[in-house]
Amino acid sequence: MVAGPLGAGTAAGGGGEYRGARRRLIETLQGAGVSDLSVLRAFDLVPRHLFVPTGVRHRAYEDSALPIGNGQTISQPSIHARYLEALKLAGREKVLEIGTGSGYQTVLLAHLAGQVFSIERIGALLDPAREAIKACAVRNVSILVGDGTLGWSGFAPYDAILVSAAAPKVPQPLVDQLAEGGRLLIPLGGRDEQVLYLITRVPGGMLDERALGPVRFVPLVGAHGWPS
Ligand code: SAM
Repeated sequence: MVAGPLGAGTAAGGGGEYRGARRRLIETLQGAGVSDLSVLRAFDLVPRHLFVPTGVRHRAYEDSALPIGNGQTISQPSIHARYLEALKLAGREKVLEIGTGSGYQTVLLAHLAGQVFSIERIGALLDPAREAIKACAVRNVSILVGDGTLGWSGFAPYDAILVSAAAPKVPQPLVDQLAEGGRLLIPLGGRDEQVLYLITRVPGGMLDERALGPVRFVPLVGAHGWPS
């Protein structure tokens, strides 16, 4: 069980019937090695059952990816946790997320950063995502329908960029929109298997690249990703 500020159980739309399941998910994440208290607190605050279709809602707090329609998935919570821990957000950052999907990770980010800009390519996913985000009453999220491989230049530079789909190579516009010292998390590799990379823009515009381990994501489709 998480100690300290995590005990409150204050999730918006938290539905009492899901509270125990959410606590068990947090224990599962801790068992998997997630130790950042601010990340665990974000999982405690965000009701994942609001972000999955009703047909799989009974599985919302399993540590599993689940279908969200249009051939897409909400990622496994332990993958989200790994992403969020790797970014080491302090709370004031401007973050760009590529691949809004269900909007779940978007709201986790909203609790961990100052401002969140999120881009999704499939417009049909955004109606339920917007509804769930609204139910969470976060005010620091902006969403765009479009090709995230182009980034969102109007609000650049970003302190962190998370790419939630797998690319064959790093999209140059995302590097260009990264602030000095900024971190880019991106799965790189083939369509079926990839390696998650943490890329930091160091002073002078150089990139420091670190491989974090194998992952499997849906393809990043776009001008600087895979063809559709
Ligand atoms: N993090 C999401 C969540 O919490 O539900 C799951 C993201 S899902 C694994 C990947 C998403 O990336 C899909 O919704 C897909 O449509 C989207 N995607 C793929 N290529 C994209 C692109 N070029 N721009 C924006 N979104 C893209």
